[in-house]
Amino acid sequence: MSLTDNCGRPLLNLRISITQRCNNRCAYCHREGEVQRANRSAELMSVEEIVRIAKIAVGLGIARLKLTGGEPLMRKDLPEIVAGIAAIAGLRDLSLTTNGLLLGGGMAKKLRDCGLRRVNISLPSLNPETYHKLTGGKLEVALDGVKVAIEADFCPVKLNMVVLKDVNVGDVPDLIEYAGRTGVVLQLIELDPVNVGDKYYAEHHRSLDEQENMLREKAVTIEKRPFMHNRLIYHLPNATIEVVKPIENSDFCMHCTRMRITSDGKLKPCLMRNDNLTDILTPIRKGANDEQLKELFVKANLLREPYNESK
Ligand code: SAM
Repeated sequence: MSLTDNCGRPLLNLRISITQRCNNRCAYCHREGEVQRANRSAELMSVEEIVRIAKIAVGLGIARLKLTGGEPLMRKDLPEIVAGIAAIAGLRDLSLTTNGLLLGGGMAKKLRDCGLRRVNISLPSLNPETYHKLTGGKLEVALDGVKVAIEADFCPVKLNMVVLKDVNVGDVPDLIEYAGRTGVVLQLIELDPVNVGDKYYAEHHRSLDEQENMLREKAVTIEKRPFMHNRLIYHLPNATIEVVKPIENSDFCMHCTRMRITSDGKLKPCLMRNDNLTDILTPIRKGANDEQLKELFVKANLLREPYNESK
């Protein structure tokens, strides 16, 4: 069974933000749509609370979960969170999105052993200066994170590149070559306006049409992901490139199958909005039973609606 919203869209994916803390300072970061510093002093969801929410979700057919943040690896108990979720019967997919900086020192393998199957690593540039300017971090450490993720046998390893006008758009060919050479999938992501400021967005947003035209010409096959925003995957002779184009894209919204949980425990139906959140953590802390928590998911699901409507 799965929950379906008022527009007939099934709810299949949940992005769980487990912290707002981060060891990078990405200029373009949307912080998963959370209001800036709103919950800096708030208590984090505990391992047990996260696993309980995940269990309720999986029981409702929301069986593809992603851990995000902030930087999920800032939490020392990430392996426990992964192990707890990975053990849930009926789970279909568990992945992590990370900047990769803390995957070294055996952490990648540890997470793999705990049941994590795949990772997305943010890599906006292969130029050390551009990478540092954009993220505040060191490229060599992020590349080591990619290397250890590949060695730990995550499948697939995906690289997330938010493409920015006048910053890293010229790095796309290098990233495609690197993805092909290392056997990872590259995701080209259009900049979302969320939390970045109007000026930054006006200066750096760029449609990915040009990149898609280039990919279409080179592709051997093109695949569509119907349960993931109808995103296109371009299979080039030597590399696989996925394109994420959310902006003013009604097709993207019509094929959205996801919900989020904020780091302070609120069900969030849409990245773009904060006026329709449903608190699930407070009821948990007040002793709500599983049926009551399911009801909260059902309620939040009915608040889902396409942000960009088809005209
Ligand atoms: N710290 C982790 C990381 O760097 O991947 C997880 C959090 S980050 C918010 C999750 C993903 O959101 C990253 O893959 C990043 O590329 C993407 N992202 C961040 N800001 C974005 C924006 N303004 N538009 C589109 N994607 C964005």
